[in-house]
Amino acid sequence: MIKYKLICKDCNNIFDSWFSNSKEYEKLKKRKYLNCHICDSRKVEKTLMSPNILNSPDLKTKDTNKIKEIKSKLREFKKFIKNNFKYVGDNFAHEARLIHYDPKKEKKAIYGKASQKEIQDLKQEGIKTEEFPWIEDKEN
Ligand SMILES: [Zn+2]
Repeated sequence: MIKYKLICKDCNNIFDSWFSNSKEYEKLKKRKYLNCHICDSRKVEKTLMSPNILNSPDLKTKDTNKIKEIKSKLREFKKFIKNNFKYVGDNFAHEARLIHYDPKKEKKAIYGKASQKEIQDLKQEGIKTEEFPWIEDKEN
């Protein structure tokens, strides 16, 4: 068994994954079978760190449990956001600006999607946003 540290290009999540050998990694990557455990993105790549090779199945179980634990926390977090924030979808950057620049606009909490570029632009304008990994309901 070989352990690689994989990084998700979408949410920057770094996680460990086990493969029987380096060829298996290449194969799975080619077929897009590798996905981020947090945002389900397929843009997952091996980090440059050297792989750890270990033949302990216990470690794998531990990693899986840790992932489960994080996932359940993320789900709780998502529920909180859904109950307290207004979803604005892809209009996040636009809505955030409206709230920031229009004093008459209700100061409500919103959440939605934005690109890294949009987040950067908002930051430069002094609009603070929080980024967090999202988890889809279909994932268990
Ligand atoms: Zn991700």
